[in-house]
Amino acid sequence: MNGIDANDTRTEPAASRPSVAAGTRGARTARFLRAARIACRGLADAWLARTCFLCDQALVASEDGLCAHCESDLPGARCARCPVCAARAEAPRQPCAGCERAAPAYDRTVVLADYAPPLDRALLALKFGGEIALAAPLGRALGRALCPAPGIASARAPGPALAALEPADWLTAVPLAPRRLAERGFNQSAVIARAAAGEVGARFESRVLRKTRESPPQSSLALADRRANLESVFAARGDLRNRTIVVVDDVMTSGATLHACALALKTAGAQAVINLVVARTR
Ligand SMILES: [Zn+2]
Ligand SMILES: [Zn+2]
Repeated sequence: MNGIDANDTRTEPAASRPSVAAGTRGARTARFLRAARIACRGLADAWLARTCFLCDQALVASEDGLCAHCESDLPGARCARCPVCAARAEAPRQPCAGCERAAPAYDRTVVLADYAPPLDRALLALKFGGEIALAAPLGRALGRALCPAPGIASARAPGPALAALEPADWLTAVPLAPRRLAERGFNQSAVIARAAAGEVGARFESRVLRKTRESPPQSSLALADRRANLESVFAARGDLRNRTIVVVDDVMTSGATLHACALALKTAGAQAVINLVVARTR
């Protein structure tokens, strides 16, 4: 859980401060050198802090947030999944029986891995422990899963890989109800989505979806009741015609929340809806 401490307020020791009078050429040079020294130290700190957020091992230049070992070893990172709902599947690229029986409103789901250690702990630390620094590496990893670099097949993106999103396409996040947002101070999915959008060069639109009212926690309901619980809880706004909307969420369980979001987006004219999820429960 290493990271650069944004609140680092260390100052230079008094002995190293320039003693020449302010305003002279020497003082200006000293100020410049001091600023340069602080900048260099910041760069060095940033470089030294490049460790994997799951195992704390140092990252090599090609790695980002997660080391290659952790990223490929996340449970479920490379298993076959239903292309629609990302449930684990025997036959990849075929919709699972559940999606065949009752097709959800979304078209596709891309997940990073299973909701299992160590990813579950990272998400809990982000959501309830205020470890917001975890959102950026998670979001960037999600971006790479959605739009792999050319020539790199994404095991996490069943079905045809997305080479890139169109300029008209937007990333957004599952919204929190206003009271929940006020309590927590941030929407973890939105912070992740912003980083994912940066990774794929797409636009992040935080206000596409809004939650119109509080609903009983999904976890308190049977799977069969979860869709009904969320009926008309979400509303979409903006001109969504001819746009693919990518909806980011931290955890997907029954898919009922993402189904309700996709329903609102499609009602508002969205052409296609893709879920982009950090962790999928099994
Ligand atoms: Zn690692
Ligand atoms: Zn499915």
